[in-house]
Amino acid sequence: MKCDDAMRRIIEHDDSAGYPVILRLHLRRCARCRAEAERLRIALADLRNAPLPVSDIDVADAVMVEIERLESYRRDVPMYNWVGGGLAILGGIVLVSFSDSLAWLQSSFGGNFEVPLSIVLGIVITLYASAFIATHLDMAGNWMAKRRG
Ligand SMILES: [Zn+2]
Repeated sequence: MKCDDAMRRIIEHDDSAGYPVILRLHLRRCARCRAEAERLRIALADLRNAPLPVSDIDVADAVMVEIERLESYRRDVPMYNWVGGGLAILGGIVLVSFSDSLAWLQSSFGGNFEVPLSIVLGIVITLYASAFIATHLDMAGNWMAKRRG
């Protein structure tokens, strides 16, 4: 075993009792590695006996104050954008039956094309309505509270 390999293995083990036999044989023959292993053992023992640094500053309150000062990531979309988007989707659903593209698709795929198209458009409007409701739960809660009296 070369000295580089011996040092790597010494560093891997923090306890000399776990040294492999080949490393122990090298340490018996090599005074330089034996001295280095002894220095590492002493350094580890000093580290184990040293008291942990105790921080006398409580940073939890300062961290919480900074977190509360952070701006919310929520982005408010104006109501007219929601209404406009919903009207655009509804208009698209109505107008798609008059489009040339739909006529071309029907000539290519036949009448079976209308059912999947209706399903997709239904999913789109449902997802839009779900997104609107999910982002306006507080408004819906206030409205429900007013209705209850
Ligand atoms: Zn050596």
